[in-house]
Amino acid sequence: MQQNYQDAMAMVRKFGKPDLFLTFTCNPSWSEILNSMEGIQRPEDRPDIIVRIFNIKLKDLLEDICKHGIFRTVLAYIYVIEFQKRGLLHAHILLTLDSESKIRTKDDIDKFVSAELLDPYTDLRLFQIETKCMVHAPCGTININSPCMRDGQCCKCFPKQFKDDTEENVNGYPIYRRRATEPVQVGKYSIDNRWVPHIILGCLKNLMHILMLKFVPQLKVSNTYINMYTKNMMQPRSKYKKKVLWIMMKF
Ligand SMILES: [Zn+2]
Repeated sequence: MQQNYQDAMAMVRKFGKPDLFLTFTCNPSWSEILNSMEGIQRPEDRPDIIVRIFNIKLKDLLEDICKHGIFRTVLAYIYVIEFQKRGLLHAHILLTLDSESKIRTKDDIDKFVSAELLDPYTDLRLFQIETKCMVHAPCGTININSPCMRDGQCCKCFPKQFKDDTEENVNGYPIYRRRATEPVQVGKYSIDNRWVPHIILGCLKNLMHILMLKFVPQLKVSNTYINMYTKNMMQPRSKYKKKVLWIMMKF
């Protein structure tokens, strides 16, 4: 594990600081998982299947990123997989892009990331995935009992403000475009673009995976990210079933 940490630091020295921070989360409703259930089994009864499918999909994603150029040319990547007791299995991935591929302008950002609801008439399935998995549970005055509420405010700062154009750099982070559009009905709530966390367009189209992307803040770039995520590799959490299975299967 110490070696992994040293390798990660060596990669930063050689290729430079990472540009993108991607979170790839397992979805227990993936058809491959559901189709493997027997009888009355539920995904939580078969952690062995969950870790196998997650591993296959993670490899697919890395192949799409590194070989098929979702973000154009990737010089280096580092990832760590987290097996938390609560929540789903997920991987944090740091990507370093070559200088031609770096995402610098707001047009570049809009090409890769969207913080808006997709058009159901263009692709109904993607729209359904987005509204099921990638919409912040309505909170605030319309749902004061939402678990994200702290002292009458959403701790994740939803709903966001409408915005006509993306801004590339606000304290090191982009502010995504969220145009004011007609709300759509999702369950019992009527939601609009203010409730959408950002999604990655290319990956969603190719893989139907649920991904979150952050730009590593340009003004505050440091090795903190590497330290934070490689340190996790060194923390034994073998009390968790999925982690034990992951190690046993030698992924
Ligand atoms: Zn909230």
